Amino acid sequence: MAIGLGAPLSSTATAKGWPTPAAGESASGDVELLLTFDDGPNPETTPKVLDLLKERKLHAIFFMVGEMVDPKKTKKAAAIVQRILDEGHVIATHTWRHRDLCKIKADDAAAEIDHGRELIEKASGFRTAWFRTPGGVRCTRLEEMLAERHLAHFHWDIDSQEWKKDRTVEKVVKMITNDIARAQSRSVVLMHDTKKIVVQALPEILKFVDEENIRRAKSNKKRIRFLEPSVLAREQLTPGLAAWVAEATANLRELPRMLATILP
Ligand SMILES: [Zn+2]
Repeated sequence: MAIGLGAPLSSTATAKGWPTPAAGESASGDVELLLTFDDGPNPETTPKVLDLLKERKLHAIFFMVGEMVDPKKTKKAAAIVQRILDEGHVIATHTWRHRDLCKIKADDAAAEIDHGRELIEKASGFRTAWFRTPGGVRCTRLEEMLAERHLAHFHWDIDSQEWKKDRTVEKVVKMITNDIARAQSRSVVLMHDTKKIVVQALPEILKFVDEENIRRAKSNKKRIRFLEPSVLAREQLTPGLAAWVAEATANLRELPRMLATILP
């Protein structure tokens, strides 16, 4: 089974290709952080990331790779997928085998998108709404493929590139917290729940946000908030549907499943 799919493909050449801010402007004007984790689930590291999020009552989007949840390849993923849903996170797709969708043959790229989605939807039992291309690659062919499937690439604003060989926990924390400190609006943070370095860096990053908020409170600056995936999803719905979701979901745990089902 392919563990450690973290290295984005051609990331520096293509990561600039998609418009930012990745998830639109912050409606409140506050700095809003949306946590996203790619390439999992991993039986060793993903539960640790989940523990850290649970401790802080934070929710994230998990962009999963199909082969990581393929029951033919692993028996360990099912329980993690269930836990992710039970704890109120959103599951999204990151293709079947994490290939470069702009470089492989068109048929193979289509299979990457479609079979990846199929495996992840089978594992979770719900339709997925959000999709991220491996490495954030962008090309006309891929844009057409996504449009045919009513999918859009979900990009990011902050990336520590923690898959790089020279990364230490300190470097990852520094890169992400520097970007958070500079952020002016809504920022999507990209990390990989398959990386031990992320398990180590995440508590430091969250601690930085707490300390930065104390500093900001003292100088009357707007604080940094975490954006719930469900809040973003509601923003993307038409007003009628958004009202229906708000009424229909008394239980917050059901929100990610419901939103995944009705998002375009
Ligand atoms: Zn990836």
